[in-house]
Amino acid sequence: MFMPKRILFEKGSLDYEMAQKIYMKFKDKESIEIIHLTSNQLKQHIPGEDLYAQYREGKKTLVVGTKKSLKFQSCKPSAHYQLPLVLGCMGQCQYCYLNTQLGDKPFIRVHVNIDDIFVQAQKYIDERLPEGTLFEGAATSDPVPVEPYTNSLEKTIRFFGDNENAKFRFVTKYNDIDTLLGLAHNGHTEIRFSINTDSVINQYEQFTASRDKRIEASIKVARAGYPTGFLIAPVFIYPNWKEEYRDLLLRLRSKIPSDLVYPITFEVISHRYTTKAKNIIQQVFPDTTLPMLDEERKFKYGQFGYGKYVYPKESLEEIKQFFQKEIEELFNHKEVKYII
Ligand code: SF4
Repeated sequence: MFMPKRILFEKGSLDYEMAQKIYMKFKDKESIEIIHLTSNQLKQHIPGEDLYAQYREGKKTLVVGTKKSLKFQSCKPSAHYQLPLVLGCMGQCQYCYLNTQLGDKPFIRVHVNIDDIFVQAQKYIDERLPEGTLFEGAATSDPVPVEPYTNSLEKTIRFFGDNENAKFRFVTKYNDIDTLLGLAHNGHTEIRFSINTDSVINQYEQFTASRDKRIEASIKVARAGYPTGFLIAPVFIYPNWKEEYRDLLLRLRSKIPSDLVYPITFEVISHRYTTKAKNIIQQVFPDTTLPMLDEERKFKYGQFGYGKYVYPKESLEEIKQFFQKEIEELFNHKEVKYII
């Protein structure tokens, strides 16, 4: 669970039940500073002279506010729309795409006007009828560490559980999912866990749940009947990488129940970076050992028009063959969505 160092309540946010609940939970905690904002100037309340310090303080800051623009971003290719429950994440994964997206505003922002968000989601659902609509809840956040006091995912899963024309999915590196286990999800919410080898988690994924905690949580949601999947990402090539990823898959196989309704899904994504991301990472994590030597990579234009550095063709092929073979051999009831 995310325990912030400071909480900023935006003007008007305390009119909402979720904000009141957060306030009541934390108001008497001496270690937490509560700030009631009177204007939109929230950055001045988060200390830090440079990106390095702003990142570390921002990551300890919770902003409680409303989602004002209710125009949802599209979320191609993984879903039709982003569902804007939470923005930001308490994790400090060195390679995280949020480093580029959120820049000097890496704080965690929760949206308390969740009923307005559902009304808007329903409009998008109705517009697409008779086609179904898929919403992604973790496009710009990891919503799980704040779930114990927002209950946003709980409400969302109930909302989609009652909805025949829409589905919801999110991905997480955390394990605060116990409150989601007994909900009437009707198979309309897919929960994916982002996992990696211990070496990668220990080196690059600070302030996230351990590999085994994530696996334990994934087994709980699978047993609760949710469509469940694993995002193995980012995959790095390093000494012993095959042994360690095989060990990870073996561990999964030994834990996953054999009588699940839905196949376990796998998505595998090799490590890649943009020049912009690399520059930010080097400022925020000056001692990083992330492999980002351009000359060891292949430059490739992505579908969104900007270039990124991916592993060379032979390495990508090796990653593909390795995961295809291992997953095929180890798991019966599974679906490999892609290996890229
Ligand atoms: Fe980014 Fe996910 Fe790590 Fe959070 S847990 S910092 S969203 S990669």
